[in-house]
Amino acid sequence: MANKIKVKTTIVEMDGDEMARVMWKMVKDKLLFPCLDINIDYYDLHVKHRDDTDDKVTIDAAKAIMKYGVGIKCATITPNEDRVKEYSLKKAWKSPNGTIRAMLDGTVFRKPILVNNIKPAVSAWKKPITIGRHAYGDVYSNTEFAVPAAGKLELVFTPQDGSKTISVPVFNFPGKGIAQVNHNLEQSILSFARACFTYALSEKIDLWFSTKDTISKIYDASFREIFEREFNKNWKDKFKTAGIEYFFTLIDDAVARIMKTEGGILWALKNYDGDVLSDMIASANGSLAMMTSVLVSPNGWFEFEAAHGTVQKHYYKHLKGEETSSNSMALIFAWTGGLRKRGEIDHTPAVIEFADKLEAAALATVEEGTMTGDLLVLAEKRPSNKKVNTEGFIDAIAVNLQKKLNG
Ligand code: NAP
Ligand code: MG
Repeated sequence: MANKIKVKTTIVEMDGDEMARVMWKMVKDKLLFPCLDINIDYYDLHVKHRDDTDDKVTIDAAKAIMKYGVGIKCATITPNEDRVKEYSLKKAWKSPNGTIRAMLDGTVFRKPILVNNIKPAVSAWKKPITIGRHAYGDVYSNTEFAVPAAGKLELVFTPQDGSKTISVPVFNFPGKGIAQVNHNLEQSILSFARACFTYALSEKIDLWFSTKDTISKIYDASFREIFEREFNKNWKDKFKTAGIEYFFTLIDDAVARIMKTEGGILWALKNYDGDVLSDMIASANGSLAMMTSVLVSPNGWFEFEAAHGTVQKHYYKHLKGEETSSNSMALIFAWTGGLRKRGEIDHTPAVIEFADKLEAAALATVEEGTMTGDLLVLAEKRPSNKKVNTEGFIDAIAVNLQKKLNG
């Protein structure tokens, strides 16, 4: 292409591992670099390079996102004992996603990519339902206790300032039983609320939030109150201007309503609800390779990625020289999400338009019947359906992209 589209501000790129890394390079070489004049701040999060730098590269990448505002990340290995052996690592380094999330104080939003020849399991759903999961506290950092025999259980709080301890009676056990204590932090819930309002406004979609505040009158009710206070204080006018709504309802009501909605909303959920219901939404939409993920910081930093991992099994086939049919859709959408956000922040409509066209080209490719193996089993059976290999899929998208760019 003669005239490349200029991306004004530097983009932070985080490279990754295995088959995702193989696809990542193809996406850049075949879909992005031929069309974009782009300055990249590159961080290689390959597991071996994280090991070589004692994971400093991950921290540097997170700092770069704080500096520039937008990062795009490939899937990376979270090492376990097998991976430590496989790559001769010094140790099982922490998940890069966990490290970056902690540094940006962010919330992860997952959104399915819809095509017209793969129908969601719920027929009412026409637009994506995005899930925002609070990734702190509750049952994930609980304290559990096996009550051995009859007796009285109490909670004791000892204030740091030396003031009087507080005891809360829990239950008089008539015999053996079990108990569980959950906790959460006001600051963490507030960050979660801010990230949800930021995301909904950025996508111009309604925000639903649901807890069980009728039963849990302090714990769940606090979530509701913190969201409400933050909304009234900082978001009400912005939502009104954008023509979107904040809507709180009981979790049971939300679950019932979600089956009847046409979608196009953000559904914010507490940690456990989000864990369970994000898997339901993912499965109802078909394939992990059709799910994008964005980390939104309450400070307005964004990190885009695919929801899937490194696609390890396909990579081992690839290494043996066998043909693979891995789906690069979510990785492409990580790039388009990041580029669109960059364009919005920089006020460069040409970049936003490029992101729109690349997404349209990728969707059109599948809708015309050219797809990878994971989608072929889900798609409506049509004579035009054709399975392509990893590279063939990206090549077909490149052809469609050229058509769209040429008008
Ligand atoms: P995975 O990479 O998501 O793959 C699981 C399975 O899902 C694949 O074997 C494949 O099924 C299917 N799949 C996922 N993405 C696909 C794609 N793009 N195209 C076609 N099929 C796709 O999860 P995993 O194998 O459990 O994990 C592998 C590595 O990824 C692990 O080391 C883990 O730490 C890492 N991981 C990283 C992230 C991240 O960076 N965000 C997230 C999750 C996991 P078939 O084999 O049936 O074709
Ligand atoms: Mg889950």
